[in-house]
Amino acid sequence: MICLPAHAARAIARLEHAGYETWAVGGCVRDGLMGRMPHDWDLCSAARPEQMKSVFADERVLDVGLRHGTLTVLTDDGPLEITTFRADGGYSDGRHPDSVRFVGSIEDDLARRDFTIGAMAWHPQRGLCDPYGGLDDLQDGILRAVGEPDARFREDALRILRGVRFAAQLGFTVEPQTAAAMRRQQALLSRIAAERVREELTGMLCGRFVQRALRDYADVLFAVLPELCPMYGCAQQNPHHLYDVWEHSLYTVGQVPAEPVLRWAALLHDCGKPCCKTVDASAVGHFYGHPAAGCALAEQLLRRLRFSNEQAAHILFLVEQHDRPLGENDKLLRRQLAKMGETRFRWLLSLKKGDAVGQGTHPAYIAELCETEARLNAVLEEDACLSLKQLAVDGRDMMTLGLRGPAVGEMLQALLEAVLDRQTANTRQALLELAKTRMEELK
Ligand code: ATP
Ligand code: MG
Repeated sequence: MICLPAHAARAIARLEHAGYETWAVGGCVRDGLMGRMPHDWDLCSAARPEQMKSVFADERVLDVGLRHGTLTVLTDDGPLEITTFRADGGYSDGRHPDSVRFVGSIEDDLARRDFTIGAMAWHPQRGLCDPYGGLDDLQDGILRAVGEPDARFREDALRILRGVRFAAQLGFTVEPQTAAAMRRQQALLSRIAAERVREELTGMLCGRFVQRALRDYADVLFAVLPELCPMYGCAQQNPHHLYDVWEHSLYTVGQVPAEPVLRWAALLHDCGKPCCKTVDASAVGHFYGHPAAGCALAEQLLRRLRFSNEQAAHILFLVEQHDRPLGENDKLLRRQLAKMGETRFRWLLSLKKGDAVGQGTHPAYIAELCETEARLNAVLEEDACLSLKQLAVDGRDMMTLGLRGPAVGEMLQALLEAVLDRQTANTRQALLELAKTRMEELK
C-alpha cells in the first residue's frame, strides 16, 4: 500500500477523468513499498503529449521533454513529471534512444525499464502493476534486469552503473545473471557521456552500502576510472597500515559523511600512492609525495568527468592536504581556520579521521583528531576574529596612520595574524598601537 501525495493523486484523477489510464511509476513506487519517502513522484499515462497538455491547460507546465513524451506540471507541491506510455527504440550510440515510440499499455511501458524493482506501477484504486516480479525482488533485496540482461546493458550501458549505484544505496545483491552481464558489457561504459557517469558515481559514493558495492564491483568502477586501477592490490608494506591502498580507500569512503565532495576526496585521497611507492632496505613501503601526485591524477579525472570548477577545487584541496597536520595547537588551528574557512576545515578533519580509521592501526591519532574537533568548536563559539572583515580596524585607519598602497593590506594581514596568535586583543586601540609600533620598527 502506497500513500500518494495529494498533488500526484489529483493529477492521476484529472487524467483518468479525461479518459486516460495513468499510474505512479518507477522509483517512487519502489521507495513507497520500502516505506521510504520518495524524493519525486513520476507518473505515466496513456495520454499522448498534446492530450496531457490540454488536460493541464490551466496549470503551469514545462514542455521541454515533450518530444520524449514528458510533460512537467508545476504544482504548488513541487514539479510532477508525467510521461506517455512509451518504449525506447534502439540505442545505436549507446547513449540516446534513437527514437521514442508511444505504446498502448502500462505493461509495455514497464518493459523498457532497467531493473525489476523500478519496473512497477501503482494506482490508488487498481493497486500494484508488477509484471516482472519487482515486489518479490524488493522483498528479497535483489537487483534483477528486466528481460535479457546483456541486451539491456548493450542498449544503454549506463544501466551497469545504475546497478552498482542501487547496490550501494539499497544494499541489495545483484542477481547472478545480471551481475555477469554487467561485467561482460562493462567496456561499453566508455561510450557514456561523462556527466551521466559522474552523477551515477556520486550517487554510488554517497550510498550507505558503498564499501561493499565498490569491493564487489571494483572492476566496473575501473572501467570508468582507469586511473584508480593501480590502487587495487597495491600493498602498503608499512606497519601503520593494515590494508592495501584500495581496501584502505574503501574504508575511508565508508567512514566519512555522505557528502559528495568528501566521498570523492576519500576515494581519491591516496590515488597517487601506487606511482610513488618505494620500498626501503628493511622492506618497508613509503609513499613520499603521494598527495601531490594524487592531485595531478585526480585533476585529470575530475576534468574528464566535467566536475564544476568549484567542486573540483574542493576535492583537490582535500587530496592535497590530507596528509598534513591540522590544528595541532590552538595557534595553528586559528591560522588554518582563517585560511581555509570552517567548511573546508571540517571536511579535512572528517577526511583525516576516515583516513585514520581506514589505516586500522591509529586509535590514539583518532582520539587526537576528535580533540581537534572539540577545540575547533570552542574557537568558533568564542566568536574569534578569523578574517580581515572581523578586524576592529580597516584600510581607512591604516591610511590615517600614513600607510599607502600595498602597505595597507600588508599591515592589516600582519594585524590579523597577531590577533590569530593572541599577541593582541581585537580592539581598535590595541590594533592602532600595534600598527604604530610596527611602522616604527620598519623605519
Ligand atoms: P532514484 O530517483 O532514486 O535515483 P529511480 O529508479 O527513480 O531512482 P530515475 O533515474 O529517477 O531512477 O528514473 C525513474 C525510472 O525510470 C526508473 O525507476 C526506471 O524505471 C526508469 N529508468 C531510468 N533510467 C533508466 C535507464 N537508463 N534505463 C532504463 N530505465 C530507466
Ligand atoms: Mg527517481
